[in-house]
Amino acid sequence: MSDQPGVAVTGASGRMGQMLVSQVGASDRLRLVGAIERPGHDWIGQDIGEAMGGAPIGVIVTDDPLQAIAPAQAIIDFTAPAATLEFAALAAQARAVHVIGTTGMSEDEIAALEPAARHAVIIRAGNMSLGVNLLTQLTQRVAAALDEDYDIEIIEAHHNQKVDAPSGTALMLGEAAAKGRGVALGDVADRARDGITGARRKGDIGFTAIRGGDIIGEHDVMFAAAGERIILRHVASDRTVFARGALKAALWGQGRAPGQYDMLDVLGL
Ligand code: NAP
Repeated sequence: MSDQPGVAVTGASGRMGQMLVSQVGASDRLRLVGAIERPGHDWIGQDIGEAMGGAPIGVIVTDDPLQAIAPAQAIIDFTAPAATLEFAALAAQARAVHVIGTTGMSEDEIAALEPAARHAVIIRAGNMSLGVNLLTQLTQRVAAALDEDYDIEIIEAHHNQKVDAPSGTALMLGEAAAKGRGVALGDVADRARDGITGARRKGDIGFTAIRGGDIIGEHDVMFAAAGERIILRHVASDRTVFARGALKAALWGQGRAPGQYDMLDVLGL
């Protein structure tokens, strides 16, 4: 048996799933041992390499997560909230590191991860890129330096297939801005404006979501005051930045104490 931790990728046919399969396949520190899709998916029973239009790589896509997770030391999971909760329970049973990139999880769904985190390492982040995680730190610092005369607005843009809004990254940035200001995001978030909204409430953190075409992910954090604006911006032009972060997390989590972690822990920021 190889020393390289084995990885099972969930949602293997998805935009991120395919990227993760390719990156794990190309890694000399991890090896692909499982590829999971939902029951009834066309790819079930096919070699994942062939299903992706390339050479066979000896991993058959399965709709049985237990079978895929059993030989894995890490699960990399960019799917949907309900699926991620199921995978968390299975990862905990297998004591495998669960790297969660899935966004759009409710507070209740996030709380439901806690029992799994008592038995296994969970690393969850709405954005796994180094750049965005650095941006959260910068956002917190700028928000701490400026008072409420600077209105904070978070503007994000994504492709037209994205199902949740605001993006997980926008919410991470909002949390960072709220932390910098010493307030709870839930008390100041302004997430939906339509019609006669009245004037902007001082101290609010506003969110705007653009959806179109094949935009991979763009985020601006704007601090707007009378006479000036500061804009912090991150643009992802390639999904590999998220996949690279997820692989790093899968390796970082090996041998750690059970619990919930994020990419700031992984990146040491
Ligand atoms: P996608 O292309 O729709 O891929 C999701 C995949 O998961 C699909 O193949 C889907 O299958 C599959 N899936 C859903 N439920 C499943 C289940 N129960 N069992 C197995 N597979 C299941 O979406 P994406 O663009 O890759 O994004 C996936 C998630 O990652 C989203 O929440 C997105 O916001 C998030 N994301 C996070 C980051 C980050 O850095 N944290 C970066 C990019 C994206 P079907 O097509 O059959 O439904």
